[in-house]
Amino acid sequence: MTCAAPKNIAGSPTVARSGLARERAKVAHAALADCHLCAHHCGVNRLVGPAGLCHAGAEAHFFLAQTEVTDELELIPTFAVALSGCDLRCDFCITGTESWNARAGTRFSAAGMAVQAKAALANGAKTIMVLGGEPTIHLPAALEFVSLLPETAKLIWKTNAYGAEPARELLAGMFDVWLADYKFGSDDCAQRLAKVPNYTRVVRENLLWANAHSELIVRHLLMPGHLDCCWKPVAEWLAENLSGGKVNLRSGFWPGWKSARHPELRSPVSDDESRRAGQLARDLGLNLIP
Ligand code: SF4
Repeated sequence: MTCAAPKNIAGSPTVARSGLARERAKVAHAALADCHLCAHHCGVNRLVGPAGLCHAGAEAHFFLAQTEVTDELELIPTFAVALSGCDLRCDFCITGTESWNARAGTRFSAAGMAVQAKAALANGAKTIMVLGGEPTIHLPAALEFVSLLPETAKLIWKTNAYGAEPARELLAGMFDVWLADYKFGSDDCAQRLAKVPNYTRVVRENLLWANAHSELIVRHLLMPGHLDCCWKPVAEWLAENLSGGKVNLRSGFWPGWKSARHPELRSPVSDDESRRAGQLARDLGLNLIP
């Protein structure tokens, strides 16, 4: 299996990804002493224990590591590694138990996981995906994992796109594909449903950066009652700023976890909303992918 050489590895295509990832893992670990990996910018010392909004310390845990076939067709089968904990608090999270608890699951060993990933590749997996929760909060572990993977493996960074510049600098050239969420078209909805400030500015910054540094697929999960406030502005921004870029409009919203806190999230998306969302995408000429 081969893939395109990662873009922009320290500005040189001759530098091996694994070696850089090893060095960057050390830098990322040191950065935990004053954590600004995501746009919450907590500035806390995670080396002495969990102290920031994600409640993650220096050690990563994972709650899933298996080959999956439910992601974008061009990426599957993928060996998916889901790290526990997240910097967002989406009340409609489908993995809330693990995503809201950075200590859920099993302690992550990069070496042990690399063995599993290589076995999955040998058994037919096309890609390796690192996700969460949110993997940005565990950047040291993620980079150490990358350092132990084959140079030719196609790597996917599945993210909520709420990372900050220090994380982006360490991620440049590490992953072939960014599979990034653009969940909310409104800062009010982001604050109310996920307790996250400055959402649209941060996500747009990350999407533009990711598009310049890797392949990019943008996901939007259609939510009931959020077509006009969320999907419409997301779709319009994508059409204007990432024209032709790949977009996956997800239809699988389920009113689980703490969705009942919000009246409009107590039911699935209606057929009429799904139809209108698809029509809007077609009207704007978005490049929808399955
Ligand atoms: S990863 Fe984000 S939420 Fe977690 S401590 Fe660092 S800045 Fe705060």
